[in-house]
Amino acid sequence: MAIERAQGPWLYARDGQRYLDGISSWWVNLFGHSHPHIQAALIDQIARLDHVMLAGFTHTAVVDLSERLAALTGLGHAFYGSDGASATEIALKMSAHYWRNAGHPDKCRFVGMAGGYHGETVGALGVTDIALFRKAYAPLVRLADTVPSPDARSALPGESPKDTAQRAIAALQEWLAEHHSTTAAFIVEPLVQCAAGMAMHDAEYLRQARTLCDRYNVHLVADEIAVGFGRTGSMFAHQQAGIRPDFICLSKGLTGGTLALSAVLTTDTVYAAFYDDDVARGFLHSHSYTGNPLACRAAVATLELFEQTGALARNRQTAQALNAALSPLALHHRVRHARHLGMIWAWDIDTTLPDFARRFHHHAMAHGLLLRPIGRTVYAMPPYVLDGEAMDHLARGALAALEATLAEETCQV
Ligand SMILES: *Cc1c(COP(=O)(O)O)cnc(C)c1O
Repeated sequence: MAIERAQGPWLYARDGQRYLDGISSWWVNLFGHSHPHIQAALIDQIARLDHVMLAGFTHTAVVDLSERLAALTGLGHAFYGSDGASATEIALKMSAHYWRNAGHPDKCRFVGMAGGYHGETVGALGVTDIALFRKAYAPLVRLADTVPSPDARSALPGESPKDTAQRAIAALQEWLAEHHSTTAAFIVEPLVQCAAGMAMHDAEYLRQARTLCDRYNVHLVADEIAVGFGRTGSMFAHQQAGIRPDFICLSKGLTGGTLALSAVLTTDTVYAAFYDDDVARGFLHSHSYTGNPLACRAAVATLELFEQTGALARNRQTAQALNAALSPLALHHRVRHARHLGMIWAWDIDTTLPDFARRFHHHAMAHGLLLRPIGRTVYAMPPYVLDGEAMDHLARGALAALEATLAEETCQV
C-alpha cells in the first residue's frame, strides 16, 4: 500500500483512498500526522543546525529536551539513541556497568516479565520473551530469566487485578531472593505489555516491584517506549504507581512520530558512578547521531504540544467518547476481556481462524481503517486527535471488520 501523504489521523494512498491510522503507525504518532507545529519547528531547526557531534559539543535543542524530560520524570540525566531497541541496549549496558564500577561485577544478568518486548537487536532480544522474534537468532542471544506476568487476564476465579499482581509479585520476590547477587536489573513495561497483545496489569505490581528492587539492590528499568507520552492516561505509565524507576527508556512517541530518536533517563547515583577521568569507567556507547538536533527539536515541539493543547485532560474526554462509540464492539458475543486504559483499547476474539489477524486487517482496510491485530487480539491505539467523525469511522470499521472476518469461519469448515 503506497501512502502518498498523511494528515491528522488519516493516511492517503496514491489511488486517493484514505485510511484511519488506528494504530498510530506502530504506536509512534501522538498528535496526528504532518502536525503544523512540529513541521514549523523542524523547518526552523534545519535552517539553523542540522547536526553536530555531541562529544565535547552541545546545542540548544538537546539541552532544552533534556531539561524538559528531567522536569517531567525527576531523572536528570539523559543518553540519546536512535530507536527503542538501542534504548534497551543502553539501559542494560549502563546498569551492568554501573554495578561493575560500584564494585559488584557479578551483577550482570537481567530479568524481565513473561511475554515482555523490548526490541529486536541481539542484546534486546535477551529480554524479549516472544518466541517468534527470537527463535531464528537463539544461538546469538544471551537469554535473561523471566518471571510471571501480572496480566490481569490470568486472574484465578474470584481474583481482582490487584490479587493477580500480588501473586506475580510473590514470584518476583522468590526469584530476586535467589538471584539478586548476580542480577543488574529488572526490566518492565509499565501497565501495558503492548506487544504481548495489550496485556494490562494493576499499578500495585509496579509499586511492589520498586520495593523489592530496592530491598535486593537491583535496578528497575521502565520501558516506556510504547506507553510513555500520555498513552495510558498519565504522562508516563509508571507515574500511576507513584514510583521512580532507576532508568526510563523512551522512543516511539518521543518525536510525535516524525523522526527516529530514543532516550534513556537515569539518576544522579548512576551518573556519578561513571563520572571519572578514567575512560574505561565511562559509559562507552558511541552513537554517531546521538542527540541529533532535528530529532531533539521535534521532541521539544511534541512536548510543547502537550502543554499548548492540554493533551492529557483532552484525552480523557476523547477516551470517554470513544468508549461509548466502541461499546457495541466490547459487548460483541465473540469478544473476551474487553479492556481499555487511556488511549489504548483491546478485545480478544473467540475465533477458530488460525490467520484471524491477517483476515481482520484485510477487512479493516476495505473499510478505510488501519488495524493490525496481534494474534487474536484486536486493538486500537489511535492518534490523540480524533474528531467525532474519525471516532465513528474507527468504531464502525472495527465492528464491520470483525463481522466480516467471523463470517469467514463457516467457509473454513
Ligand atoms: C517498540 C518497542 C520497543 C522497540 O522500539 P524500536 O524503535 O522498534 O526498536 C521496545 N520496547 C517496547 C515496549 C516497544 O513497544
